[in-house]
Amino acid sequence: MTTSNTKMIFEQSKSGRRAYSLPENDVETFDLTAQLPKHLSRKNAAELPEVSELQLMRHYTALANKNFGIETGFYPLGSCTMKYNPKVNEDIARMDGFMNIHPLQDPATVQGALKLMYDLQEDLKQVTGMDDISLQPAAGAQGEWAGLLIFKAYHEKNGEGSQRKTILVPDSAHGTNPASAAVAGYNVREIKSNENGTVGVEALKSALGPDTAGLMLTNPNTLGLFEVDIVEIAEIVHEAGGLLYYDGANANAILGKSTPGEMGFDVVHLNLHKSFSTPHGGGGPGSGPIGVKKYLSPFLPVPRIEKQEEEYVLNTDYADTIGRVKGYFGNFGVNVRAYAYIRSMGAEGLQQVSEDAVLNANYLKARLSKYYDTPYKQHCKHEFVLSGLRQKRKGVRTLDIAKRLLDYGFYAPTVYFPLIVEECIMIEPTETEAKETLDEFADAMIKIAEEVEEQPELLHEAPLTKSVRRLDEVVAARKPKVIYQK
Ligand SMILES: *Cc1c(COP(=O)(O)O)cnc(C)c1O
Repeated sequence: MTTSNTKMIFEQSKSGRRAYSLPENDVETFDLTAQLPKHLSRKNAAELPEVSELQLMRHYTALANKNFGIETGFYPLGSCTMKYNPKVNEDIARMDGFMNIHPLQDPATVQGALKLMYDLQEDLKQVTGMDDISLQPAAGAQGEWAGLLIFKAYHEKNGEGSQRKTILVPDSAHGTNPASAAVAGYNVREIKSNENGTVGVEALKSALGPDTAGLMLTNPNTLGLFEVDIVEIAEIVHEAGGLLYYDGANANAILGKSTPGEMGFDVVHLNLHKSFSTPHGGGGPGSGPIGVKKYLSPFLPVPRIEKQEEEYVLNTDYADTIGRVKGYFGNFGVNVRAYAYIRSMGAEGLQQVSEDAVLNANYLKARLSKYYDTPYKQHCKHEFVLSGLRQKRKGVRTLDIAKRLLDYGFYAPTVYFPLIVEECIMIEPTETEAKETLDEFADAMIKIAEEVEEQPELLHEAPLTKSVRRLDEVVAARKPKVIYQK
């Protein structure tokens, strides 16, 4: 039924209806449009919908109710980590002294903000096991790129810049890894994972050579598996004259447990907007700080936030710096949330995050492994992958399973990534979900596995309960309809 609630606001419009009633204006006004150049003025009035205040409220509430968010339900959303971000961190970020300052203010007038960033750097040194941090990069991918520019500066400084041209990347890597390496001017060489889903030491050895600039790795990797040979891997890469880059976008599994520094990595980035409490649905804003070992510190971006005596200063005095990679100091608001999160959790709280994230993932994996193929049998860290191969033999694809989950009130997990697992379904429950929620999700996944056996056609139709069913994704991307036309 099309009620006025489901009609578009343009269709509800009645000429002359207003959402407000203000008294007649009795002060002199000033016609701003008269100041505009003629060619910029409208020829006709804008065709705005004319509705009452209540219609307007219902319009926005109806739109909000169509949204799915972490506050409405569970996200089994793999590497994007749409985890719950405690609201206290939002409150802190909205404090006047943080929100209403300007990056061009004299540092003497923003000592509190500089202290926060300095202290956050100190905390992130502990989280990563690195010696120095830059908060400048505004995303994980930008951190990767900045980190690889540091690799480059280091090899150039050693006179090996023209020779070390290749970055090694495992086939399970996040797509930004090879992309960042290419943007930084490197050749990318892929390393095949072994049957355990981890980097094969032999494959790595045969790929290393005088052209190796470094290896990019994430640990646990994107299959949620810990690279058990990491110490040996670090040794052989270093012996070959290469450096190790740690993609720390999802730090949920290692907080307070191990550090990239201890594992032997030279450069790391974190995604504060994934693991450290900034909601990032829709793509932003982000913060991808990088950390480096002492010998790479001279290359970090400037300005650097430092403490001299009792004063916090911005220091640009580094001859070997790769320069500035982002305006001002990066995304300050994201840094405030990360700082508030780290300080309110404390060291023990962060360890608990890792323990709960890993426990929740292993619990779901154990509950689902009877019903879906689990290509890797060992315990997982914060996430794990299933394969929909068994279901594919019945004519149901992983995409169908993901769509059916929407009918059961869940967001869909990441599918078809990592690329090395056929019909891949990637699940990351995160640390904040109650056991009851995990059980509801597992029950839905098991019910879907039964539906695959009994009525596979149903799954091709899913989602059955949503206002938008399946879109032609190519048309939606290439020819998006973003303007209402009568
Ligand atoms: C999200 C992610 C990235 C990229 O981070 P952005 O902030 O989106 O640029 C890199 N690596 C991994 C493993 C990720 O999950």
